[in-house]
Amino acid sequence: MPEGPEIRRAADRLERALKGQSAEAVFFAFEHLKPFERQLGGQRVESVETRGKGLLIHFENRLSIYSYNQLYGRWFVRPAHSYPRTGRQLRLAIHNAHKSALLYSASDIDVLTPGQIALHPFLSRLGPDVVSAETGVVLKQIREPRFARRQLGALLLDQHFLAGVGNYLRSEILFVSGLHPRLRPSDCSPEQLEALAEAATTLARRSYRHNGVTCDLRIARELKAAGQPRSRYRHWVFSRTGRPCRQCGTPVLLTTVASRRLNYCPVCQPQQA
Ligand SMILES: [Zn+2]
Repeated sequence: MPEGPEIRRAADRLERALKGQSAEAVFFAFEHLKPFERQLGGQRVESVETRGKGLLIHFENRLSIYSYNQLYGRWFVRPAHSYPRTGRQLRLAIHNAHKSALLYSASDIDVLTPGQIALHPFLSRLGPDVVSAETGVVLKQIREPRFARRQLGALLLDQHFLAGVGNYLRSEILFVSGLHPRLRPSDCSPEQLEALAEAATTLARRSYRHNGVTCDLRIARELKAAGQPRSRYRHWVFSRTGRPCRQCGTPVLLTTVASRRLNYCPVCQPQQA
């Protein structure tokens, strides 16, 4: 499932194709959205915004197309009115004079007014977006009393806590901040909570700018130069079960937290804070 950095990169591609251009035609597969085809046709796209894993395409008449890609949703940007060879179902198409933005397989699509966005049951309750929020804003959220007694491993996947963190970012953020997944914010020192906020924003932005890489960039460059495949240099611990920790050499462990796999180093991330 794409995480915040991947969604933001998809949004950048969409923005390059759509921003400032009039949508000559808009297509929705879902019957209840068909009336919006006429309302959005001919309207200029103002911007493409991400909120965590949610994406909003804003039109000049103040309507916005909202989409949330679950496991299967995928955007394609193509020359106008051309389509990829795919067995997927086309759910939404925005065509302008030059490009077509095509969303396949996604099931969570809606058209919203500014008022509906403000009251949206998912969007209105999202935590700060780790790709774009200031570290101070993320730290303030981490210090909120309502999160203090929840284990970090589960808490980090809660989009109401921090929006845009998914499974690989979770393992990487905990490793870089040196925190065991079973610890709760209430177990951590102020310095540890600061390290957590710093790791969350730094790693999300690094992943966004460097095509999903969260590992130290110098280490990643050296491994790449030595001929290692991307899977070997991309992360600190995620998907590296049994391989030596890049900091201490201890084999990286695999566990399951909130029904998803999590990798960590038992030495760099001790259970006692
Ligand atoms: Zn280690």
